[in-house]
Amino acid sequence: MKKQFAVVGLGRFGGSVCKELYSMGHEVLAIDVSEDRVNDYAPYSTHSVVANATDENALLSLGIRNFDHVIVAIGDNIQASILCTLLLKELNVRQVWVKAQNNYHHKVVEKIGADRIIHPEHDMGIRIAHYLVSEKIIDYIELSAEYSIVELMATKKVANRTIAELDIRAKYGCTILGIKREEEVNISPFPDEIIVENDILILIGHNRDLKRFEDEGL
Ligand code: ATP
Repeated sequence: MKKQFAVVGLGRFGGSVCKELYSMGHEVLAIDVSEDRVNDYAPYSTHSVVANATDENALLSLGIRNFDHVIVAIGDNIQASILCTLLLKELNVRQVWVKAQNNYHHKVVEKIGADRIIHPEHDMGIRIAHYLVSEKIIDYIELSAEYSIVELMATKKVANRTIAELDIRAKYGCTILGIKREEEVNISPFPDEIIVENDILILIGHNRDLKRFEDEGL
């Protein structure tokens, strides 16, 4: 389903969010105070506008209230990021996601109602560390300090066996959310699904259990 997004701040992070959403076919309003940045992203957004996102009237005239989802990716100017987040929440934007520069910034935007706070460098650092230590991990998403979603490559050890036979949930306490096979993604596979070597298994679980499955089950 096509969704409407607004991205405020077209630095490297905001810019890549904008480009990717647009390439996925969504409507994206790109906003920045810099005319050059706005021009750069004109081909990668539905509308791109020069505006100061700390100016309530400017936000109102852009119809920002009608957007379900706004991403605040203002970088170094923490004050502007906080003020913009405050205005967006006051205008009842349902989902306001904010890129935080540091813990102080995180705490403030959390207090004023940011729905999700992102630390791209920190999060990517964790993901890269997990890829580095394991040859089997394809991707890794931290859900909390204890729980994660991982993508693991199916080895010969699990190939040609059904999910029911492997009984990963009972043996390891992790659940298979999906299986990627070439371009296809099978979400919530049935217990009689046969795993093929090099399938990518998408698993959710406690970090300890996922690690045990990765070390002993694969
Ligand atoms: P990145 O790693 O994503 O590039 P960064 O912290 O370096 O992070 P910046 O280059 O600071 O990001 O990008 C933030 C963008 O936000 C800039 O293009 C800047 O012009 C824009 N910006 C700053 N203040 C405002 C504002 N009040 N309203 C709209 N855009 C703003």
